[in-house]
Amino acid sequence: MNSPGPVNQILDFYKKLERNPEYEWVKWSKVRKRFTIKNANAFFIGVMLDQGQTAERAWDGGEHMVDNHFKGKRNFWKSVAATHRSTIRKICQKGYDETSYASVFCFNKFPIWLRNASDKMLNDYKGDPRNIWNVTSENVNEIYIRFKSFDGIGDALSKMAQFILVRNYGIAGGIENRSNMSVKPDELVRRVLFRSGISTSNKIRESIEALENLHLPSPADFDAAAWIIGREYCLKNKPKCYSCPILVSCQYGKRHNQANSADAKSRGAPRSVE
Ligand code: SF4
Repeated sequence: MNSPGPVNQILDFYKKLERNPEYEWVKWSKVRKRFTIKNANAFFIGVMLDQGQTAERAWDGGEHMVDNHFKGKRNFWKSVAATHRSTIRKICQKGYDETSYASVFCFNKFPIWLRNASDKMLNDYKGDPRNIWNVTSENVNEIYIRFKSFDGIGDALSKMAQFILVRNYGIAGGIENRSNMSVKPDELVRRVLFRSGISTSNKIRESIEALENLHLPSPADFDAAAWIIGREYCLKNKPKCYSCPILVSCQYGKRHNQANSADAKSRGAPRSVE
């Protein structure tokens, strides 16, 4: 029997994840869930922080900021806009239990992004992030476009925010848009696409083209499964091919796993995949 290709293996892996309570977030919500204004603010900030650090720390950082700063009677974003820029910088760089909310990469940029976001949030969304995603099912792509128009929120983060809102909160039609949302692969997904042979290049444009050519029934599901493979197995250095769920069909995995096995037998040392 022929072994399945990497695309089918990634889709099969998604089905396993769906049944695993540890990966609750990959499942589609059957109901429309509502955000409180506080949760919506924390979500928005979490999206902005989710670069160069773990997702867990980013989401926690969003919650921590709305719990501890820019509080009072004013709307959160009005408070940010009314705060002196040097104080915003101090809060952003020291206010997370004496550490920075943002990663090293965004250390100096995040205070500026946050201040700029407050202007946009007040001018365009009445100081309420829920208005960003308050769109009809036909306009689901508007969520992605709106997130992307904020400083510091690029392609992959905008897409991630759209997926989470539609998949996990049933926003903008929820599951009825399962087949409609395209993928903008982040670094982890691009690496899996390239190493597995699904894309001939690790570049964003070729990766998107490769995904479009697959005509996936649910790009968001494929993206979630590939992202988890990228995060847990397909590490930049020393990928864990030996336990990866798509090893049997992955071009690089097969080659380097064999090489590693032979190497380990002769020298006892693991090798890495570039
Ligand atoms: S088999 Fe190895 S190279 Fe291929 S996707 Fe899995 S971890 Fe990455």
